[in-house]
Amino acid sequence: MDIIVLVKQVPDMEKVKFDREKGVVDRTSASAEINPFDLNALETAVQIAENIDARVTAVSMGPPNTESALKECIARGAHEGVLVSDRKFGGSDTKATSKILASAIKKLGAYDLVIAGEKTVDGDTGQVGPEVAEFLNIPHASYVSKITEMNKDSMEVHSEIWEGTYLKSIKFPCLITVTKDINHPRLPSFKNKMKARKAEIKILKLEDLEEFLNEDNVGFKGSPTKVKKIEIPQIEKRQGKIYRESDTVEAENELINIFKKIKVLEV
Ligand SMILES: Cc1cc2nc3c(=O)[nH]c(=O)nc-3n(C[C@H](O)[C@H](O)[C@H](O)COP(=O)(O)OP(=O)(O)OC[C@H]3O[C@@H](n4cnc5c(N)ncnc54)[C@H](O)[C@@H]3O)c2cc1C
Repeated sequence: MDIIVLVKQVPDMEKVKFDREKGVVDRTSASAEINPFDLNALETAVQIAENIDARVTAVSMGPPNTESALKECIARGAHEGVLVSDRKFGGSDTKATSKILASAIKKLGAYDLVIAGEKTVDGDTGQVGPEVAEFLNIPHASYVSKITEMNKDSMEVHSEIWEGTYLKSIKFPCLITVTKDINHPRLPSFKNKMKARKAEIKILKLEDLEEFLNEDNVGFKGSPTKVKKIEIPQIEKRQGKIYRESDTVEAENELINIFKKIKVLEV
């Protein structure tokens, strides 16, 4: 079985700044790490590979320094890493990103299962997994929290949508996006760290994918989404007031007034 894991490198969201003019995240302003949900996706693939004969390929679209994230994936159990990187991909929205990733998957050849995280902690749209499935023309199941069965033709999964858990049977080739409840990602092992250090990361550029897409499909040109403005919401400071034992009546009146104002009390 050939498993592709989609992995995105994300900035440390505590420190990152925004380029308000271009309407994009300034990725040079903070250090990068693997999107946490993608570690769950990778762990899912590695666990499958431990049970059946499977090859796990981690694929990421990003700038050249994303190579380190792919090496970390190898240290965590992936067999190989593929970086999809080209200056012309800059400015891609979720549609263009998904089309590029789907093209890279097609270029890599036969695959049975694609696993993505449910969402990223920076873009947070949750669109890329399902959009990749659409571009590949394969079925998908989102928000998978458990794989209950697997045979050579299909798998059965628990898919958490709204308040319900759906038991879905899905035929290969297919794509699933996973939640953090599916497993606990392992740490890199010493043996795999050594393997990762020596690993060659394959790089795919636009010219390598030309049988599937062209310049009009990527970057700002291939992106129907236009960010008009970025605004950081102002968080109001919490307000507090302390009443002592002698002020109980005043405190009660104040509370009643607040409850009336926010319509908790009608009297
Ligand atoms: C107009 C516009 C311009 C943009 N320009 C840039 C830019 O110049 N540079 C830039 O980095 N971003 C840019 N972005 C953001 C970029 O489109 C998103 O980062 C990307 O599409 C992923 O979306 P998301 O973070 O919401 O992922 P989600 O849809 O929340 O991700 C779900 C899952 O999909 C997979 N996935 C997502 N992205 C990738 C990836 N890159 N590689 C592999 N797997 C992935 C992961 O498994 C992830 O868990 C731009 C967005 C817009 C709207």
